[in-house]
Amino acid sequence: SLTLFQFWSAGSGTRRRSPAASSRPVSPVVVHDDGVVGMIGNTPLVRLMTLSELTGCDIFGKAEFLNPGGSSKDRVALSIITEAERRGDLVPHTGATVFEGTVGSTGISLALLCRARGYRCHIVMPDDVASDKVAMLERLGATVERVRPVSIIDANHFVNVARRRAEEAQERAVRGGRPGTGGVFANQFETLDNFKVHYEVTGPEVYEQTGGELDVFVMGAGTGGTLAGVARYLKPRIPTLRVVLADPQGSGLFNKVKHNVFYAPTEAEGRRRRHQIDTVVEGIGINRLTRNFEQALGVVDDAMRVTDQEAVSMARYLMREEGLFVGSSSAVNVVAAVKVAKMSRPGTRIVTLLCDSGTRHLTKFWSDDFLRQQGLDPAPTGRDYIASL
Ligand code: PMP
Repeated sequence: SLTLFQFWSAGSGTRRRSPAASSRPVSPVVVHDDGVVGMIGNTPLVRLMTLSELTGCDIFGKAEFLNPGGSSKDRVALSIITEAERRGDLVPHTGATVFEGTVGSTGISLALLCRARGYRCHIVMPDDVASDKVAMLERLGATVERVRPVSIIDANHFVNVARRRAEEAQERAVRGGRPGTGGVFANQFETLDNFKVHYEVTGPEVYEQTGGELDVFVMGAGTGGTLAGVARYLKPRIPTLRVVLADPQGSGLFNKVKHNVFYAPTEAEGRRRRHQIDTVVEGIGINRLTRNFEQALGVVDDAMRVTDQEAVSMARYLMREEGLFVGSSSAVNVVAAVKVAKMSRPGTRIVTLLCDSGTRHLTKFWSDDFLRQQGLDPAPTGRDYIASL
């Protein structure tokens, strides 16, 4: 085993140094000469110690919560901005604005990266979203526009408003003879810049970190970008790999993967998830087919349903027994990973994602009162819980 000093000197092993840095005497601690964007990605895999021991498998979580904006959406935000720059749709420090309709982590990642890259950021969200999210985005320098919650087919749905604002800004810029100074619609659900970054970056990271020795990749899907990108990269390189979708309560993707039909388990659950009202699990689960998820069709082998209670109990377990404080989508991923492990031969290597930290979820998923109102049991769990799964 390593002394503490050797441990620190080894750095975080998986991080690449820039060629410039490695040609000089360097500190063992990584330096990001390119600023905050250099801190995005290259996240470590962390062995889930007790879960590996209890199942006899090797279960690893990719610690995406270590990204500077707190989730893997940093990768997507960077990809969307970089691709828009390449197309000439965004020119920095001209007042150009990135627009997005989102209630989640993507807004936070976009807001941060817009500051780092010289853009304005405009987030449109429904007006019933927790006010701490609005405050957070405003502290990060974004303009937040709140609209009445309506159906996605309505022109005033927050996603459609964001698209319209971007189109208006772009038109003004083009009319004024200053292309690139208006705005772009980030559009994370439909743009394949999302899929692309996971295919080109996240997938290769998992391949390198496992040395290509991986039996199962488990992941939930919100936009589907992560699942599709990682799976499409890994499958041809690891022909024996199985890809398993982790699907939360109320999402229609499970039925799409298992039976090739798209319906939520119950109408009420479907409605709840469509409007993201009182959903306990945030960020994954959806009832429409996005362009990003389409890229995953044909490379997903199986799907696992995960109940809200299972996610709640697993998050409590991960906190108590592993010292990992994660959000709801990470908990869903780990439940599915453990279920897969229990059905697999000993020594099976499983990787999933730990998407964000529990600190993002203090008023819902990590609020005992909120959970009890939803009829869920927030009690701490131990090893007997894993045995019961
Ligand atoms: N939950 C959280 C908190 C996330 O950051 C992400 C992104 N990795 C997801 C869920 C789902 O990812 P995707 O949109 O790529 O399906």
